[in-house]
Amino acid sequence: MPALPPATSERFLMGIYETLGIKTRINAAACYTALGGSLMASEVLQAMNDAAKSFISLHELQQKAGERIASLTKNEGAFITTGAAAGIVLSILACRTRGDLVEIQKIIDGNAKRSEVIMYTGHRIPYDSNIRVAGSDLVTVGDAIQTFDYQLEAKINEDTSAIFFCAGAHLAGPALSLERTVEIAQKYSIPVIVDAAAQLPPVTNLWHFTHEMGADLAIFSGGKALRGPQSSGLVVGKREFIEAIRVNAAPYARLGRGFKASKEEIAGLMTAIELYLAKDHGADWQRWSKTVDAWFEALNGKTACKIWRDDVNEAGQPTPRIAIQLSNPNALEIISKLQSLDPIVEVVHDSRRMIWISPDSLQAGEESIVITQLLKALPTK
Ligand SMILES: *Cc1c(COP(=O)(O)O)cnc(C)c1O
Repeated sequence: MPALPPATSERFLMGIYETLGIKTRINAAACYTALGGSLMASEVLQAMNDAAKSFISLHELQQKAGERIASLTKNEGAFITTGAAAGIVLSILACRTRGDLVEIQKIIDGNAKRSEVIMYTGHRIPYDSNIRVAGSDLVTVGDAIQTFDYQLEAKINEDTSAIFFCAGAHLAGPALSLERTVEIAQKYSIPVIVDAAAQLPPVTNLWHFTHEMGADLAIFSGGKALRGPQSSGLVVGKREFIEAIRVNAAPYARLGRGFKASKEEIAGLMTAIELYLAKDHGADWQRWSKTVDAWFEALNGKTACKIWRDDVNEAGQPTPRIAIQLSNPNALEIISKLQSLDPIVEVVHDSRRMIWISPDSLQAGEESIVITQLLKALPTK
C-alpha cells in the first residue's frame, strides 16, 4: 500500500518538492519555463505576500502599478499580464479594436475588421501561434534570406492590424531593421508591436524599442531576466494602445480574461522591475564573465570537444556562455547522460553537435558542480 501523504504540520517541515519526490536541478541553461523560469528575489516574494493580505480594486492596482512602471521605464504606459505570450494576444487585440467595444464584440461574433498581422518570415518563432489566439491571420513577408521595403508595403492593406516584430538579434538577418519597419508602418498608420520577451539585458531595452525606436508596444516576459513571478509579463508603449489593452483585458470578462494577472503578480512584477532598474548590471556581467572564463579553463583540453567562449546567449542577448561542439552529432545522448546524474545539470543544446552552458541562472556554489557533471557526460579523448 502506498504511504499516506504526511500530515499538514509534517508537510511544512519538508520542502514542497521533497513532499512530491521531485529533485531540484541546477540550471546552466537559460530562463526556460519548463525549468521554472527564473528565481524571484526575497523582496519580490515579500511584495507578493503583502499584496495577498488585502482586497483592493484590481482596476486601480493595474492602473497605478502601470503608471509607476511606465514612468520608471520612460514609457507613456505599461500593463501587467500573465506572460509575454499573453502580451502578444492582448497587444494584437488592442491593435485590432483600438479599445472600441463594438470592435471587441465583432471579434467575438466573428466578423471583425483588421484581421491580419504582418510578420517577417525570418522572425517566425514558436510563440507566434499566439497571433492566431487573438483571432488574427498571420501574413508573412520576405523569405529566410532577405526582405525588401516594397515587399512589406505590398502586404499592408485595410485589413492590417499591426506589424509584429521579433527583436532577438539572432533573427535580424533576413528582416528589415526595426527603424525601417517603423518608418514604413508610420507611413500607413499601422502600429508596430515588438516581441522582446527575452531581450533583457540590456536594461535599456525596457525603453529602447518604444521610447527610442518609435514602436507602439513592446512585450517582455516577467519570469525571465526580470525575475518576477514566472506567470507574469509586461507590455509597455504608447498610451493609446496600453489603454486599448486595458479595455480587452481582465478584470473585464472579455477576450483577454484568460490572461488574468493577480494582485500578487502585479505587485511582484512591479517590484522585480524596480530591482532590475536599480541593479548593477556591469557587476552581474563581470561575475558571469569570470565564471565563463573559469569554465573554459576547466573544460578546455579535458574532453574530445571543441570549447569556446560565446558572448551572445540563446536569445541573442549579450550574456556570456560556453559553447561545446561535439565531434559526433550525438548531443541528445550527452543530454540523456546528464539527466541520469545526480544532481541533474540542465544545459542548452541542439539536436546534433552543440551544447551551451550559461552562468546567469546559477545559484551560489553551483558553478563547479556544472563542470563535475559535464566531465562525466562529455566524451574524453
Ligand atoms: C519566452 C518568449 C515568449 C513567451 O514568454 P512567456 O513570458 O513565457 O509567455 C514569447 N516570445 C519570445 C521571443 C520568447 O523568448
